[in-house]
Amino acid sequence: MIKNGTLLVASLLLSASVLAQVVDTAAYGGPEGNEIYEALIESYTVEEGADAPAPAMFSDRTWDLNDSLTFLPSYEVYRTWNTDAIFLGGTQSHGITDTLRLQLAHEDCDHAMPCPGHLTSGYGPRKGRMHYGVDLKLETGDPVKSAFDGMVRISKYNRTFGHVVVVRHYNGLETLYAHLSERMVEPGQEVHAGDVLGLGGNTGRSYGSHLHFEVRFLEQPIDPSLVFDLEKGTLKAKHFDIHKGTFAAIAAAKAEAQARKYHVVRRGDTLSAIARRYGTSVSALCKLNGMKQSAILPLGKRIRYR
Ligand SMILES: [Zn+2]
Repeated sequence: MIKNGTLLVASLLLSASVLAQVVDTAAYGGPEGNEIYEALIESYTVEEGADAPAPAMFSDRTWDLNDSLTFLPSYEVYRTWNTDAIFLGGTQSHGITDTLRLQLAHEDCDHAMPCPGHLTSGYGPRKGRMHYGVDLKLETGDPVKSAFDGMVRISKYNRTFGHVVVVRHYNGLETLYAHLSERMVEPGQEVHAGDVLGLGGNTGRSYGSHLHFEVRFLEQPIDPSLVFDLEKGTLKAKHFDIHKGTFAAIAAAKAEAQARKYHVVRRGDTLSAIARRYGTSVSALCKLNGMKQSAILPLGKRIRYR
C-alpha cells in the first residue's frame, strides 16, 4: 500500500514514464521493461541490507502484493495476471486505433526458436476449426525453449493442450507451448529467451509428438510465421507492427469457419439422407466436401452441409 507522498510521486512518475513510452513512441517492452524490473528489484535488495542506504525513491515502504504487479511483464498493457486461466476469452480489448510497434528484440541473443522442428500444420482455419498456432515437429523429450525474455504465467495440465506453458513477455506478446511431456517452470518464474520451459511431447488432444506454439497479443492470436521464419529459425524482424488489420483476417476466417455447418456420420447415414435432412442436394454436398457421390461414409466423418 502507498505509505507516503514520496512513494506516490515515485509511482506516478514510473507509470507516467511507462505510459509515455507507449503513447509517444508507440513501442514498449524489450530491455526497457526488463531494466525497470531489475532496477526495482535491486532497490529492494539494497533496502533489505542494513549497510547500504536505500535509494530515496524507495525508502520507507514495505513490500506489498500490489507493488509486485508493477514488476509483471507488460502489466501496464494487460492489467491482469491470471496464473490459472490460460485465456480469459475476449474480455480484453486491444483498442488499437493506429499502428502499435512491438519491439520484439534488440540483440541477436534475446530471442529463440522454441524448437528447431519444421512446420507440420500452419495457422488459420483447419477442417472447420480454428488453429490459433503452428505445429512444429519434435521428438518426445526434445527441449522446448522460451521465445523471448519474460515471466511464466501458466504452467499446468489442460485437457486440450496437455502440459502447457504460457509466458508473458516484456515485449507485450504472450507465447504458448502445448502438448509437453514435462513442464520445468512454475508460474511467476522469470525466464530468458532460450531457457528450457519443458520437454516436447504428445499430451492433451494431440496425435503424434509435436509442439503447438501460439503467439498472442492481449489474447488475440497472431500467426507465429509472421514473427518467426519457422524454417530458418530466425526472427523475421526485430519489431512487429500491430494494427486493426492484424486481427481482421483471423476474425473473418473465424466467422467464415463458424458459418460452416457439419454433420457427423452415424450408422446407416447416406449422402441422400443427409442432403434431405439439411435441405440440400447430394451434388452440393459432394462439391462442398470434395467427394464423389459413390464415396463411402466412414462413421464419425464430418460432412459439411453449409
Ligand atoms: Zn496445433
